[in-house]
Amino acid sequence: MAERYDVIIVGAGPGGLACAHELGKSKLSVLVIEKNEIIGPKICAGGLKNLDKNFELPANKIRTFPEEDYTSKYKSYTLKLDKPLRTISRHDLGQYQTALLEEFENIEVRTGVKVKEIKDTQIITSAGNFSFKYLIGADGSNSMVRRHLGLETKSCIGMYYEVPGITENVIWHFNPEDIKAGYIWAFPHLDSTNIGVFFNPEHLSPKIAKKALHDYLDARKIDYSVCKYQAGAISHHYDGCVFGNTFLVGDAAGLALRTNGAGISFAIVSGKEIARKILKPEYKMPELDIILNYKNRQENIFSFIERIEFIQRPTYRMMLNLMKKKWFQKRFGSYF
Ligand SMILES: Cc1cc2nc3c(=O)[nH]c(=O)nc-3n(C[C@H](O)[C@H](O)[C@H](O)COP(=O)(O)OP(=O)(O)OC[C@H]3O[C@@H](n4cnc5c(N)ncnc54)[C@H](O)[C@@H]3O)c2cc1C
Repeated sequence: MAERYDVIIVGAGPGGLACAHELGKSKLSVLVIEKNEIIGPKICAGGLKNLDKNFELPANKIRTFPEEDYTSKYKSYTLKLDKPLRTISRHDLGQYQTALLEEFENIEVRTGVKVKEIKDTQIITSAGNFSFKYLIGADGSNSMVRRHLGLETKSCIGMYYEVPGITENVIWHFNPEDIKAGYIWAFPHLDSTNIGVFFNPEHLSPKIAKKALHDYLDARKIDYSVCKYQAGAISHHYDGCVFGNTFLVGDAAGLALRTNGAGISFAIVSGKEIARKILKPEYKMPELDIILNYKNRQENIFSFIERIEFIQRPTYRMMLNLMKKKWFQKRFGSYF
């Protein structure tokens, strides 16, 4: 017989854990299933902005940057940010969010259990079958819950090295000649710097993107020869998140930004909103609307830049100027 829960959340990433936390305030029985033994570690640069003000991060695990450096062949400057960017390791973020669940008796987290299949109101896992009233797919960019719903997935790619030594500032580097509408980032963490390249594989091959990253590192004499190379997909195609008794959050819902790959804060917000929706079906999810408006605004401008190569250079020049304006940052964000 399958064990029965009111809610099953597949995936203990930031989206699934935020959803569980919100459900902790209810009487529903909740099971979070995570395929990895350890919660947290994931291919990610760990940069965070647009976080809900109620989501506090542990001060000793983060770095906070009130400014960012924008660099390109044409222009380089330091931008004072409307909202600071923070960096945190995904291990620390996952462990922190998991610890927040300890106070709730109705939340059970099982790690090292992979969901293999969904059949009606049951999931088939490596540790037996479980049945649910509500199923939440918080299983990331390669979501099997999303596939089960028959939805298409579109992804961008991020590749990076975690290099020893810490750069002082967050860096965004644009080079449309080589990386088109992609960019190179450098996010300093507590004891290393995450340096990588983000791009859309529809417009740039992974081989060229990787070469651009190597050129960037070589030009700055940054030794990455012993650093582990990491790459991952970032799902950005949103098709909704409520499908009867099945819900999607975060990357599984395609909520990451196609413009720059940011998805952690959107996963957290969507996780909480879906929990509220389950608890009160007439709830309209206003915070999700804010994310979606922001995502649409950024992506609409971007699809233009992305497709038409000859406008990429002048547009980046213009954008680098516009990003200094407060009204522009407010409406479209700084780059991240
Ligand atoms: C290279 C790279 C750099 C990035 N950098 C940033 C950044 O700096 N800032 C930012 O905001 N975003 C960044 N992102 C995006 C960010 O990682 C995601 O948007 C975010 O992790 C989404 O959270 P989530 O909870 O939706 O999914 P995830 O964090 O992917 O969590 C999904 C969880 O589900 C588990 N899971 C998957 N399948 C199953 C299964 N079948 N059974 C059980 N468990 C399962 C996984 O193990 C995982 O723990 C980056 C992504 C990449 C690839």
